[in-house]
Amino acid sequence: MLFRQLFDRVSSTYTYLVASRPGGEALLVDPVREQVDAYLRLARELDLRLVRAIDTHTHADHVTALGALRDTTGCLTLMGEQTRAECVTETFRDGDVLDVDGVRVEAIHTPGHTDDSYSFRLADRVLTGDTLLIRGSGRTDFQNGDPRAEYHSIFDRLLVLPPETLVYPGHDYKGWTVSTLAEERAHNPRLQVSSEAEYARIMNGLNLPDPRLMDVAVPANLRCGRTD
Ligand code: FE
Repeated sequence: MLFRQLFDRVSSTYTYLVASRPGGEALLVDPVREQVDAYLRLARELDLRLVRAIDTHTHADHVTALGALRDTTGCLTLMGEQTRAECVTETFRDGDVLDVDGVRVEAIHTPGHTDDSYSFRLADRVLTGDTLLIRGSGRTDFQNGDPRAEYHSIFDRLLVLPPETLVYPGHDYKGWTVSTLAEERAHNPRLQVSSEAEYARIMNGLNLPDPRLMDVAVPANLRCGRTD
């Protein structure tokens, strides 16, 4: 498998490129609009054909590249069936498996950060979007976020996978790049709770400021990343 973790510094977003072999198909997860040229260049250099681009959820902190990538490469754009974004060419639902030249990518519905949040499981790793972050978890205070749903997504859908599963999050603000489920179970402060109610209390007490780009990013992301 070809796997690349790419970083957008402005929004601290990780984008993932998944492919099986040079000359084959590629999938991008959570591409950022400002980085489109870099993605296309990397795909050229690795001799890959971008066939699908996915957002794990409707982002509030950066503008998606889904529309731009579809326009330039003709790739399919996908989001979960719960999305309200207009520009998806296909939707997926819990349990769906995307095949990238033999690489199995399974969609796991993990609502909580938003109601359209998904994680993606590959053989030995899981892309957790903003549901489970390294030593943190996705805020649940807007876009139909729900701390109780997030608790169940993390504990009942992600932490039931093998403990050595690698965790690749959708963002990181401190320079962490990868973790494991066992490591997060033991050391993520948000996971040291004994009930859904306790988790909800922590999340409801965060009092975070709105993301800087929220008023631009959310409407744009519902319209294929167009800001005109
Ligand atoms: Fe998010």
